[in-house]
Amino acid sequence: MATETNPLLDFSGLPRFPEIQPEHVTPAVEQVLAQGRAVIERVERSAPPPTWETVVQPLEDANERVSRVWGPVAHLNAVMNTPRLREAYNANLPRITQYHAELGQNRVLFEKYKAIQASPAFQRLTRAQRRVVENEIRDFRLGGAELPDEARARFLAIQERLAQLQSRFSDNLLDATNAFAYYASEEEVAGIPEDVLAAAWEAARQEGKSGWKFTLHMPSYLPVMQYAHARPLREAMYRAYVTRASDLGPQALDNTPLIREILKLRAEEARLLGFASYAELSLQTKMARSPAEVLDFLQELAAKAKPFAERELAELREFAARELKLEHLEAWDLAYASEKLRLARYAFSEQEVKQYFPDTRVLAGLFRLVETLYGVRIQSAQAPVWHPDVKFFRIFSENGELVGQFYADLYARPSKRGGAWMDDAITRRRLPTGVQVPAAYLTCNFSAPQGGRPSLLTHDEVITLFHEFGHGLHHLLTRVDEPGVAGINGVEWDAVELPSQFMENFCWEWGVVEPMSGHVDTGEPLPRSLFDKMRAARNFQAGMQTVRQLEFALFDMRLHHDFDPEREDFMELLHQVRRQVAVVFPPAYNRFPHSFSHIFAGGYAAGYYSYKWAEVLSADAYSLFEEHGVLSPEIGRRFRDEILAVGGSRPALESFVAFRGREPRIEALLRHSGMIAETA
Ligand code: ZN
Repeated sequence: MATETNPLLDFSGLPRFPEIQPEHVTPAVEQVLAQGRAVIERVERSAPPPTWETVVQPLEDANERVSRVWGPVAHLNAVMNTPRLREAYNANLPRITQYHAELGQNRVLFEKYKAIQASPAFQRLTRAQRRVVENEIRDFRLGGAELPDEARARFLAIQERLAQLQSRFSDNLLDATNAFAYYASEEEVAGIPEDVLAAAWEAARQEGKSGWKFTLHMPSYLPVMQYAHARPLREAMYRAYVTRASDLGPQALDNTPLIREILKLRAEEARLLGFASYAELSLQTKMARSPAEVLDFLQELAAKAKPFAERELAELREFAARELKLEHLEAWDLAYASEKLRLARYAFSEQEVKQYFPDTRVLAGLFRLVETLYGVRIQSAQAPVWHPDVKFFRIFSENGELVGQFYADLYARPSKRGGAWMDDAITRRRLPTGVQVPAAYLTCNFSAPQGGRPSLLTHDEVITLFHEFGHGLHHLLTRVDEPGVAGINGVEWDAVELPSQFMENFCWEWGVVEPMSGHVDTGEPLPRSLFDKMRAARNFQAGMQTVRQLEFALFDMRLHHDFDPEREDFMELLHQVRRQVAVVFPPAYNRFPHSFSHIFAGGYAAGYYSYKWAEVLSADAYSLFEEHGVLSPEIGRRFRDEILAVGGSRPALESFVAFRGREPRIEALLRHSGMIAETA
């Protein structure tokens, strides 16, 4: 297929979505990877001394072309999935992965990057360029490129074994989850919502069984725990859930040996690279400076949150005894009693709230807010799209210059992956011909407009939209000229959620919510009394939720820092952590670690703290707005200039301090969660 007829190989502007066909994928990937490898070879042979122009620039160009081909393919695979496209995607994914893996292990290139950093010319590079070089060197090192041959072989063997173990960990968990079912009788199902019951009834019928089939998958498990009046049913479900993939079930699915081996191998990997613990290794790509800093942070937060958690638990116990006749609140009663208490305190329905948030009004309100804060203008525009529901917008600066553009694909459809996310389509960079304007995809799964009525959003969905838009602004309002550190690229892992969580705060401001609400039939704004109830419910059991998150985060951090997997028992460590921070103590048979996929199968090892860390940053950043008025254009411009515009071109802590005038503090998060007295 000729280049000029393959739309994936046209990099002159926005992707030509309507023309992209599955048969374009393989030839485009082959061509761009062949070109990339040719560039790598040329750079390897380039005459010394290595410079930005002879090494970094050509590699950045080549990598950008790879992502300009693969980006639209991966995007379409996620939002317009068809069997043919999926086949093309899966056939080419290993090639893309292989290309990046080769690059990360290329020692000739690694030496050249180090030589650039050591050269006098390095100091004459821009801040962003220096950061690109530094990040590359860091990643080469963490990828084992610096190790002597024998150690390097061991390092790669560990990586491979870890990948297997982690994948088996989640397979075991899934198999153990699927292995359990409970067929409930009519007396047992009282209290469970109708739609859940209908699904459970249908599931039992499909197996030719009588009664209602409940499983350990969330959509079935959670409503049982929250609503089933039958205590023995809740207990049976709870026990099955918290012993999944453990020594209390079938040996073939027991994750205990996997956890031990994973921890041992991670510790060995860290030692090979010269770190005292896996936690130290993990923090190399994060904002937190040391495991000790993270542990201090978690313990400080725990000390503040625990009294609130204790009080909430006492209230819950009292309510359960008085209203539900549950004298001893057991682990399987917590969700049930909490749901009853929540309803008793803050009765309002999501259905009622939704009527006030037609998506078009919400979007207009969001744009007005962003225009006020950051001095930009957002305009609807035309571009080639992949589905008629997709909208396209352009962002202009104060002086009318086009600075960014984005697609908003808001509605669920069968061909679209679930969830909500922001992804980059084009990254900003300075070219000889001028600035390449960045572009972003904003993808959500709201319900589509029906029968001439607009899509109505729940308040949670409004928050989701603001969150993803925050990521989008980080990508689009960047002023960095090097794609490697422009927008969200190169931002430390535990700071990436700052701009997104920051935007969520505005969804709790009356001054923002009132003008962007309007009843779908009458146009009336959201009643203040309803909004007040929503705000009150926001912090329901915030203390208990916080200490639970802290228990997970502390367990994760200590497991990867001061724990010896050869000699110590990880269950004992969990008990220790619980004695320190928890208010709820589960039964002895609880095997939480055996299903802790975030750290044993996902990317959160020695990183679970990031959730709270980023929340502290976003709440503290927002508190400067609270001090100056939440719609302050002056503070908005400062946020844009010091956080959004600089992206990964400097350390996140430096950006935070430049914006806030000091290092982050936890008070604002505590206040937003109702865990501190309002300051005057
Ligand atoms: Zn996010």
